[in-house]
Amino acid sequence: MSNQANVSQNQWSPSSWRLKPIKQEVVYEDSKAVEAAISKLQTLPPLVTPTEIVRLKSSLRDVALGKAFLLQGGDCAELFSYCEEGAIDSKIKLILQMSLVLIWGANKPVVRIARMAGQYAKPRSSPVEKVDGKEIPSFRGDILNGYSPEDRRIDPERLVSAYHHSAATLNYTRAQLGSGMADLHNSLDWELGHVKDKELQAKYQRIVSSITDSLRFMRTVGADTAGQLQTVDLFTSHEALVLEYEQSLTRSLRHPSRSATASGDSTNSNDKGWYDTSAHFVWIGDRTRQLDGAHVEFFRGIENPIGIKVGPTMEAEELVNLLDIVNPRKEIGKVTLITRYGQDKVEKMLGQHIVAVKATDHVVVWQCDPMHGNTRTTNTGIKTRHFSSILSEVSSALRIHREHGSFLGGVHLELTGDAVTECVGGSEGLAEADLSLNYTTFCDPRLNEKQALELAFLVAGHYRG
Ligand code: PEP
Ligand code: MN
Repeated sequence: MSNQANVSQNQWSPSSWRLKPIKQEVVYEDSKAVEAAISKLQTLPPLVTPTEIVRLKSSLRDVALGKAFLLQGGDCAELFSYCEEGAIDSKIKLILQMSLVLIWGANKPVVRIARMAGQYAKPRSSPVEKVDGKEIPSFRGDILNGYSPEDRRIDPERLVSAYHHSAATLNYTRAQLGSGMADLHNSLDWELGHVKDKELQAKYQRIVSSITDSLRFMRTVGADTAGQLQTVDLFTSHEALVLEYEQSLTRSLRHPSRSATASGDSTNSNDKGWYDTSAHFVWIGDRTRQLDGAHVEFFRGIENPIGIKVGPTMEAEELVNLLDIVNPRKEIGKVTLITRYGQDKVEKMLGQHIVAVKATDHVVVWQCDPMHGNTRTTNTGIKTRHFSSILSEVSSALRIHREHGSFLGGVHLELTGDAVTECVGGSEGLAEADLSLNYTTFCDPRLNEKQALELAFLVAGHYRG
């Protein structure tokens, strides 16, 4: 009897999150319109497939075991208007260049995941904000409402629009990668002219020369007979915050590799699993990771590799409990812990979290997000991040892992391929006074293309000494 109650209590479905308390709740005024949006989304085809999702999970297993490095990056809040040729091209190119630098540095393959094609939902510290003395609902991301003050009402049709913008972004990305954009035989423009410190410029130039020499050598010896240097994998990711949307794209689909090796019984329901087909990788934000909450409930049932943001308020015991809930089978690389403590707190927090996880059978990917614990507001009220704080948290993470017999598996960055002025510091010497030059983010400050590439050079340099 009690056993049975237990079973039904634990029954997971794509909508079982609705029975749990939820943070960052979305209150839709028009429930008919929400139902219509969900029904529509349920008929639309998956954006990604189980084959791709499982391929990423297996690559992340390599990361968890120290055989590969994970680079994840993109906008804090992706807007529908970023679904545009130039913005997508520059982001793909930047992630590709950074990954080449990291491959050179870490001497390992790099797994690339973009925060793109679906990063449309934002958790907010307050549901309302004051604009020109008037209190209005906060911007929740393009998937729910618009940035302009008159557009702040939650509009359920945006759920469907999010799908279409994701699909168009993903389609163009796939097309570009399939058309030689990532052809490593093409010469890439590294634009190092901005680096003011001549010694640093020479150092970066040496890294670029070493990479281009290696590529030329491979081409000369015909090492690319399989065409492997002509395209690369680039996976998509976002924070799975709006569960109505995620639920609608979560489908019971056949496992790719397991069905290929199965006993031939195609009617066995174990051949199938629940795949969230909105992206290859989804993560839980630091604000929605309560053990008994709706988001954790949703995440525990999906096959995708997942991320969990781990901020300074996470207790070690809570972290272990969370791993047991979302990864009961203890799959290696299923969970990426995205630590984001801040440069001052990483010292106190990371070590104890590493020790706690080491004491279990969980083998995770440890990824450092040096952005979210290092956001500051200037005297003039602009949200920014210092390049030196970002670098400091990554450097501390690299060292603390080493000191604990662990290793950093990857980095998680907010970046853009455009020449924005949102974070201060870096080789261009951006100062607080420069922030207003091209400050275009609708949420958190992003590294611009030069700062992002520089961070890759510095992380790579750490490995090469
Ligand atoms: C984010 O990644 O944009 C974010 C909101 O992060 P966190 O949940 O870590 O605050
Ligand atoms: Mn952010």
